[in-house]
Amino acid sequence: MSQRFIDLYKDLPTEYVDGFKSIFDSISFAGELSNEQFQMLKQITNLEEQELKLALLPFAAAYSVAPISKFYVGAIVKGTSGKLYFGANLEFAGAQLGQTVHAEQSAISHAWMKGEEGISDITINFSPCGHCRQFMNELSTAEHLSVQLPQRDEMTLQQYLPESFGPKDLGIESGLMSPVNHGYHFVENDPLLEKAIDALNRSHAPYTKDHSGVSIKTKDGMLFCGSYAENAAFNPSLPPLQVALVQLQMAGIAFSEIAEVGLAEMNEGSISHLADTQSTIEAINPDIPVTYVAISE
Ligand SMILES: [Zn+2]
Repeated sequence: MSQRFIDLYKDLPTEYVDGFKSIFDSISFAGELSNEQFQMLKQITNLEEQELKLALLPFAAAYSVAPISKFYVGAIVKGTSGKLYFGANLEFAGAQLGQTVHAEQSAISHAWMKGEEGISDITINFSPCGHCRQFMNELSTAEHLSVQLPQRDEMTLQQYLPESFGPKDLGIESGLMSPVNHGYHFVENDPLLEKAIDALNRSHAPYTKDHSGVSIKTKDGMLFCGSYAENAAFNPSLPPLQVALVQLQMAGIAFSEIAEVGLAEMNEGSISHLADTQSTIEAINPDIPVTYVAISE
């Protein structure tokens, strides 16, 4: 049984518990719900789609790691495939606050790395901060994205972010989550760095063109990866390490299970993620090695 949901089951009406457990306690549950599973939960609870998403927010927030703020935020996004993806905020004690991942960024990057090419809506338990409104304005689906909060009418992102600044203001047409393959290859036989380069090839860096990706190997040999998500306003950009850590967290694997990290980026780029990747990993555990490769054009 998943420890993170135990207290939540206590708050559910007893007639819901078995159905919820059949999904959330499944060994294969990885913070995402198929349309079929969502329909099953709808049937059990008799709730409308939006009400059910709001009711599921505590299950997303149960993934939060917030040792600094103790403020637990959950988000659920619906991918264009119809699947739902959980996200939660991640904080790193000992690293600077800029390394923090917000729940919205978590759910969006989760869906992105699972192959989604856009999201239609997001449900969050607190109003999205300005940083997240700007982050979401980078999405391929930003124009029509709807935002649902508890006890609020559904509104569009554009209503939350009037007179917005975004990719189009800089002449960029393809938004975050648009499918892309930058086509870089790596010749050495190193599965960790190959995975980082796979992530680099999917990264969204239209402003600097400094594509980058991170891979994480766990102690039992599983590999996770994260692509860099750049933002038109620069500061809300989400580094590749953070995206990879989200994948680990949503798979239910603790950061204490990280064995090794790989970072791939462009040779002689105008920016670098190396120092931040090293310092954030050091804050998690100074014994984790970070392997690095710089790819030439
Ligand atoms: Zn935020």
